[in-house]
Amino acid sequence: MTETGATSHHALNDAPVEVSVDVIVFGGGIAGLWTLAVLQKAGYKAVLLESQALGAGQTRYAQGIIHGGTKYALTGKLTASSEAVADMPSRWRDCYEGNGEPDLSQAELLSDAHYLWSTTSLTSRISGFFASKVMRSRSTELDSKSLPAIFQHKDFKGQFYRLDEPVFNTMTVIRALAEPRKQTILMIDPQTLHHEGDKLKVSSSQGVDYRFHFKKIIFNAGEGNEELISRFKSEQPRMQRRPLKMVVMRGVQDDMIYAHCLGASVNPRITITSHRDAQGKVVWYMGGQLAEDGVNKTDIALVKAAKKELSELIPWLDLNGAEWGVLEINRAEIKKPGTTRPDTFSIEQHGDVITAWPTKLALAPVLADELVDMLQADNVEKSTDQALPEWAPPVYAELPWDEDPCWLPPSEVDV
Ligand SMILES: Cc1cc2nc3c(=O)[nH]c(=O)nc-3n(C[C@H](O)[C@H](O)[C@H](O)COP(=O)(O)OP(=O)(O)OC[C@H]3O[C@@H](n4cnc5c(N)ncnc54)[C@H](O)[C@@H]3O)c2cc1C
Repeated sequence: MTETGATSHHALNDAPVEVSVDVIVFGGGIAGLWTLAVLQKAGYKAVLLESQALGAGQTRYAQGIIHGGTKYALTGKLTASSEAVADMPSRWRDCYEGNGEPDLSQAELLSDAHYLWSTTSLTSRISGFFASKVMRSRSTELDSKSLPAIFQHKDFKGQFYRLDEPVFNTMTVIRALAEPRKQTILMIDPQTLHHEGDKLKVSSSQGVDYRFHFKKIIFNAGEGNEELISRFKSEQPRMQRRPLKMVVMRGVQDDMIYAHCLGASVNPRITITSHRDAQGKVVWYMGGQLAEDGVNKTDIALVKAAKKELSELIPWLDLNGAEWGVLEINRAEIKKPGTTRPDTFSIEQHGDVITAWPTKLALAPVLADELVDMLQADNVEKSTDQALPEWAPPVYAELPWDEDPCWLPPSEVDV
C-alpha cells in the first residue's frame, strides 16, 4: 500500500517504493525548511525528511528575534562574517511583506522591533558604541513618551533604544515555509535509516518503505546532525551543545514586551519576548544571562532568580499570582578548536553529504543561499521529472509552553 491507500506493484512485492531526487534534506526546523524552499526555487528536485514533527527542535524554543548584529557589535565582534547578519532584518521583512523569497506573508510578526534598555546610565564604552555610525543606522534612542507602555512609569530611570530587529512567531514561520511544499516533506522513522552509496532506505512514520536515489544529502537536523553523521559512518564535522534553561511566566501581565536589559557587562542580563499560549494568555519568555546561569540551578532556584531580576529591573511590576515554568534546551552548533561560540552559520561537506548549522534562526536565509551555491558549484544536475509519490502530510510541533510539564506547581514557586 502507498500512504494514501493506493496499491503499488512495489508494495505487492514487499519492495520499497523507489524515488529519484536531486537532494535529500534532513530536518524540518528553520534551516531545513528554508533550504528546501530555496532549493526548489532554484529548480532542484528536493525532499525533506523529518523524524519528529516540523519545528520540534530548537526552532520552536527560539525567541524569534531577527538579530541585525547588535549583539555582536556590543561584544566588539562586528567582523566581516557577522556583517552577514546585518542584512537579516530587512531580508526577513521583505519575505514577510511578500516581496522576497520564500514568501512568509502567512507568518506572524510579533513585533516590528526589539528594544534594549539599561537600568542606569550605560557605561562609556557602550555609549560610545551607540554613538557610532554603524549603530546610528540600526538603533534609535527613545524619549520617555515613546517607550513601550510598561516602561512609561515614573520610576523608570534608564536609557531605552529601539533596535531594527523584528520578532517572529517561529512556529508560524515553520508553517508558512512548510505548507506550500508539504507534498515534498516526509515524516520518517529515523531508526530505519540505511545508507548505501547513492541510495538511502527509510520507512515513513506510517510504515511504508522508500528507497531514495539521490545526488546530495544535506543534514539540517540541528542536534540530530550528530546521530546522522555517525549513522553515515563519519566522524566529521563535530558538534557541540550549549544548554540553556529558559524561564516562562504567565497569568498576570498582558503587556507584550520584546527587550534585552543590559547590565554592567555587554551580555544581556535578561532577554524577554512575549507570546500567546494555546488559551490566548500572554507568556513572558525569558533568556539571556538568566538562562545561561540557569543551567547550574534547580528549577525552583532559577524561578527565584527570575523573580529577583524582574523585581530589580522593573520594580513596579506586580507578579503576584503568576504561574512559572522552566524550559531546558540545547543549542547545537559546530565544534571547532579554539572557539567556544560560533558567531555565524557553518557548513561542511564530506563526500556527497553536507552538514549545516545556522547557529541563529536569523541566519537561515544566508545558510540556504550558500548551500544552493555549493550545489551549483558541484554541478549537481536538476531533474526534469519532478513527480513524487503521494504520502501522508507532515505534522507540526506545539510551542513549548503549551506542553504541561514545563509549568511548576504554584505551591513550589510561591515560597
Ligand atoms: C532558547 C533559544 C532561543 C533562541 N533564540 C533565538 C533568537 O531569538 N534568534 C535567533 O536568530 N536564534 C535564536 N536561537 C537559535 C535558533 O533557535 C537555532 O539556531 C535554530 O532554530 C536552529 O535551527 P535548525 O533548523 O538548524 O535546527 P532545529 O530547529 O533544532 O531543527 C532540527 C530538526 O531536525 C529534526 N531531526 C532531528 N534528527 C533527525 C533525523 N535523524 N532525521 C530527520 N529529522 C531529524 C528535528 O526533529 C527538528 O525538527 C535560539 C535558540 C535557543 C535554544
